[in-house]
Amino acid sequence: MTQSNSVRRLFGPQTALLAILLLADCARLSRRAEDLRRYEFTEPQMGVPFRIVLYAPDHPAAVEASRAAFARIQQLNDILSDYDTDSELSRLSQTAASGRAVQLGPELWFVLQRSQKLAQQTAGAFDVTVGPVVSLWRKARREKRLPDPAKLAAAMSAVGYQKLRLDPKRHTAELLGPHMRLDLGAIAKGYAADEAINILRSKGVRRALVSGGGDMAAGDPPPGKKGWHVEVAPLDAPNAPPARFVWLANAGLATSGDLFQHLEIDGKRYSHIVDPHTGVGLTDHSLVAVIAPDGITADSLATAVSVLGPEKGLRLIEATRGAAVHIVRMPAWRIETTESGRFRTDN
Ligand code: AMP
Ligand code: MG
Repeated sequence: MTQSNSVRRLFGPQTALLAILLLADCARLSRRAEDLRRYEFTEPQMGVPFRIVLYAPDHPAAVEASRAAFARIQQLNDILSDYDTDSELSRLSQTAASGRAVQLGPELWFVLQRSQKLAQQTAGAFDVTVGPVVSLWRKARREKRLPDPAKLAAAMSAVGYQKLRLDPKRHTAELLGPHMRLDLGAIAKGYAADEAINILRSKGVRRALVSGGGDMAAGDPPPGKKGWHVEVAPLDAPNAPPARFVWLANAGLATSGDLFQHLEIDGKRYSHIVDPHTGVGLTDHSLVAVIAPDGITADSLATAVSVLGPEKGLRLIEATRGAAVHIVRMPAWRIETTESGRFRTDN
């Protein structure tokens, strides 16, 4: 029996034709993979440079796809930003303690329910209600002095993920306490990178890498490669282990740490990541890189592990399907490296 006969017998004539057409299409695509060229685009988005690297048949196709992807990131910023007082997120924060549950759009609902799930899993180490405390630390960084303890205590009384109530049936959110403010800085960039990859794919561009700050999402690898060869930055400390390289495909990679954003007072470095239980910026000078099935998971986990520290952080990673972590920290003047079994590098 010929191959097409057996296909026809199993699935009927239309399916056999479809299978043949699909095979022909695959052959055309794999031939075309060699004709693809590499293009790179950068735009300021979400307060950081967002970079898209992609493979496309020609420049107009590359420009069109990248424009659509950047437009999606911009749209997500308009929804999820805590800087923009008119974003859907900021408008939600403005309803704190009003007794009103607010109907959410699909994107904000998705990010908030992922945030709350991780907050529960980490007993509040990851907590998007840290907004009031984060804004005091932002001011402290600008003024180069520690936040006023009384103001910090007042801000802390508005923090707590249990005071953010989500209704999974109606997709509403209610902020139960006064002065609450949500901040999605630890999760939104990874989500935006995922969404950009989805848009590129819908435009026929499957071989792409999108990164914003330390967060990235990868689609299919470059032609002929097993993945995108990506550098995991080293900790900026003397004697820190050198940069590592990983192969990334259809996955997310996020790096969290105090490399670019910190406040240094009396030789002590306070990170922009705060421990929601104390309200204080982390001081263990760490770099956490997480690989996960997508950008939103990697981004949120990297921040969560930064707060949890290596022991609890490693347990969280081992309990998350498809996740791996690399942690370098210098709590005193000693470098500590921790890695999950699944973290694979090529150096
Ligand atoms: P990332 O760079 O992804 O680790 O995110 C850091 C940003 O997330 C900070 O600049 C704050 O806006 C916010 N953030 C700080 N601490 C936390 C925390 N414990 N949980 C959730 N978000 C946080
Ligand atoms: Mg993060």
